[in-house]
Amino acid sequence: MNPIINHLIQLQELHLIRVEQAAQRGGHMLEELNASIQTLTEQLPPDIRATVAKMQKRDPVMIVPVCHAVCTGCGMRIPTSLVQAVRIAEQINICPTCTRMLFYPEGAPRQIAKAPSRTEPRRVGITRFSSPSLMLPRLAATDRDGVIRELAFLMKTQGFVDDEQKLVEGALRREAIVSTAVEHGLAFPHVRGVEGGGLTLALGISPKGVRFDPSDKTLTRIVFFVAIPTAASGFYLKLLAGLAETFSDPETRKALMAEDTPEGLWKTLVKLTKRTVS
Ligand SMILES: [Zn+2]
Repeated sequence: MNPIINHLIQLQELHLIRVEQAAQRGGHMLEELNASIQTLTEQLPPDIRATVAKMQKRDPVMIVPVCHAVCTGCGMRIPTSLVQAVRIAEQINICPTCTRMLFYPEGAPRQIAKAPSRTEPRRVGITRFSSPSLMLPRLAATDRDGVIRELAFLMKTQGFVDDEQKLVEGALRREAIVSTAVEHGLAFPHVRGVEGGGLTLALGISPKGVRFDPSDKTLTRIVFFVAIPTAASGFYLKLLAGLAETFSDPETRKALMAEDTPEGLWKTLVKLTKRTVS
């Protein structure tokens, strides 16, 4: 891959993490993130730095993958010659419609779940991107990496994502930047750049709790694992805010923890998030 493209993807990830962190709790990690963002930005060639600065004012999603000859940022079809140019990546190419920079995804896990048929009733709220088959009311793993592997394995075996190993690697890379564990024993491990479908969420409960953030004494008991297409990054922030709001209430956490079947966990999740996740 063109090193500048790789650089831009990393920079975008840090920008998005900063927005996520600010939405959740802020604090000291923001200083470290800001320093990393500044370093990466300064390393860019001046013309690209100017483009990034301009785009960041509009939308944190500035560089998106091309998938099936479509710009995943705006959903518009891209001419074959441009798809070729994006694949070769000798220079930075932009989408003629939304002007986002484009890259050709290599080696990333992909979504494989089929879209619901048109005859099915329209799904709403959290049911649009999760399912009873993605509920794990009793996680077996006793540490963070094990929990991530268990939820990635579930997404793979239930036919939502094609490559569980790459999903695990992506989630662990994300945890290494800054832990996704937040207060109240919640954690939101996730992988961005999982293209080919919509956002997918799996939920795992650990009654005993696992240490998700090595620097934090609080154990994590409720884990939302999410595979995110790059263009759904903005939507993911809303989802994150909605889930964090719902489960800041101890009664809602107790209700989730009490379920011991996937069906029960699913029903409770759908009911509790009806107001906060649209
Ligand atoms: Zn576009």
